Amino acid sequence: MSNSVRHGAAVCIDNCSKTFADGTRALEPASLDIARGETMVLLGPSGCGKTTMLRIIAGLEAPDAPGRVVFDGKDMTAVPIERRNVGMVFQSYALFPNMSVAENIGYGLKIRGVPKAERAARVAELVELTNITGLENRRIDQLSGGQRQRVALARAVAIRPGILLLDEPLTALDAALRERLRGELNRLLRALGITTIYVTHDQAEAMELGDRVVVMSKGRIVQIGAPRDIYFTPVNRFVAEFIGAANIVEAPIEKGHLVLPGGLQPVDGVADQAAAVAMIRPETIGVVDPASTSLAGIVESVSFVGDRQRLAVSGISTKPITVDAPNTLAVKSGERIGLSIAPGAIRLLPADN
Ligand code: ADP
Ligand code: MG
Repeated sequence: MSNSVRHGAAVCIDNCSKTFADGTRALEPASLDIARGETMVLLGPSGCGKTTMLRIIAGLEAPDAPGRVVFDGKDMTAVPIERRNVGMVFQSYALFPNMSVAENIGYGLKIRGVPKAERAARVAELVELTNITGLENRRIDQLSGGQRQRVALARAVAIRPGILLLDEPLTALDAALRERLRGELNRLLRALGITTIYVTHDQAEAMELGDRVVVMSKGRIVQIGAPRDIYFTPVNRFVAEFIGAANIVEAPIEKGHLVLPGGLQPVDGVADQAAAVAMIRPETIGVVDPASTSLAGIVESVSFVGDRQRLAVSGISTKPITVDAPNTLAVKSGERIGLSIAPGAIRLLPADN
């Protein structure tokens, strides 16, 4: 089973909104197509409607009329969860505490009447795939958080679901473990080749795991794209600031240059604009001799974070500019430095938000 052939169901969310009984509008009408075998990440801040969308796909919530959920061309809107062939993993593991690891993983197969020998073989396969060999006979309360999450994942995929739904599965874990499991999960999802919808508020998780990422805000889809697209070409300020670190600079453009307090900065594609909003990623800014550039400012602070150092530079724009400099650069607070930014690294955003 460890081939990388893409399978699973194609998912189509067609014009689905959700208004809860108390009047809360959790989701504005949203449409989304997810290909067979694709990993789609729903990313956004808490309360933006991610879980609601996932629950609509699972069949735990019904969308407002006339919304439809379609799997492989078949309308599933009225089909109950147990007949949708979905596997789910939540932030809280929801494992059966009175069963062993192996019994937890095999539970879905057992209630579907899969014969014992076949069940055991499938459980063994998943134990290996999720890296929990040797823990088969442990009780759930004898496992660490990371081990529990692996069991939850193995249990969810044991039944060979057409769609795997994951709701912030790593959020409860500490940072180092979260990062390691993220890598493992990535390899596992590629190996399974199953259609996966993964909810998170963590942009690093979204980048690593998503074939595509759906950025959501206040119940709306704001942007859908590959990780590189949403990082390099965010459609607006919200996406730019939510995905990674971003300097947002507001200034006029004259004769192809942003006119900044710290000097002139060439931009691509626009000659003149009275009030431009530009995004500049900290890692795209180079530190140079101030005599060699038209853009210079004063280092306000230097934060050494190991793999790089993050500078706050004042005098360039109205707010300090964040610059990610190499960790070997000799630079200190109070120093005057020049900044070098490739025009192509500057992304102009719509001014309306
Ligand atoms: P997220 O998963 O992105 O944090 P949710 O989908 O859980 O967001 O929630 C979206 C909005 O809907 C929030 O304002 C939340 O409080 C509200 N909400 C979620 N479930 C219910 C419910 N059963 N009844 C009323 N409001 C709800
Ligand atoms: Mg949620």
